[in-house]
Amino acid sequence: MKWTGRRQSSNVDDQRGSSGGGGGLPGGLLSKGGLGMVVVILLISWLTGTNPLTLLQQTNIDSGPTQSVTLASSPEEEELKQFVSVVLASTEDVWQAQLPGYRFPTLELFRGQTQSGCGSATSASGPFYCSADERVYIDLSFYEELKNQLNAPGDFAQAYVIAHEVGHHIQHLRGITDKVHAMREKLSEEEYNKLSVKLELQADFLAGMWAHYAKDDRGFIEEGDIEEALNAAAAIGDDRLQKQFQGQVVPDSFTHGTSEQRVRWFSKGFKTGDMAQGDTFSATDL
Ligand SMILES: [Zn+2]
Repeated sequence: MKWTGRRQSSNVDDQRGSSGGGGGLPGGLLSKGGLGMVVVILLISWLTGTNPLTLLQQTNIDSGPTQSVTLASSPEEEELKQFVSVVLASTEDVWQAQLPGYRFPTLELFRGQTQSGCGSATSASGPFYCSADERVYIDLSFYEELKNQLNAPGDFAQAYVIAHEVGHHIQHLRGITDKVHAMREKLSEEEYNKLSVKLELQADFLAGMWAHYAKDDRGFIEEGDIEEALNAAAAIGDDRLQKQFQGQVVPDSFTHGTSEQRVRWFSKGFKTGDMAQGDTFSATDL
């Protein structure tokens, strides 16, 4: 992707310093020796909800006054932040043109854990969208996981993740999310999972649709980028993930769709760029 030098969205809310760590502490606070350090750690633990044992393991108490528990942002992370801001800006441009009156979502960066309008979440749950506060949440460390554990490297794979979550925002704006959630009480878990798959595949379609319109924007999307997104879509299919992490595939428990389905719906959005083609709810060939 040619992304440097492009407009960055002003709707990125960087909460990395105030979620599960980050920001650091002034050195003076930590210079009172072992006991003081333990007190400070318990305080941080209480403030951030982090397990104190984790913090103690990260911090060598006996090594003197210069130790700190800083989890400052690395240059790589700062670059990632710029990247997600550019991708978000691109989704704003595309969806504003497609859906007049489009209300922009906010993208919140967090570290470790966060409080969202949909409850508390940790980085373990992966990026997500909360319709109650119209925010996309992402811990940038997910991108490491995407690259290393899930085997989906590349900047376009990272962009796809944002575009998928923005897809959920569009579903919310169009009232689709509420309709699906309202069915939760009325359906068995198995039936509800099927609806959830349709919701997820439609978000993939919308991500593809974004790529359809973004690709014409001054060389933003290059040769090979779409393959990265397709590879990412395949990597996070329920069947692939279950095989990788549970050793078996249980189709009834799928909530996002198979790798093949995710690739197919992303591609359909990418090829057609036509909202009318993305009705996964009435599709007979899901
Ligand atoms: Zn999703």
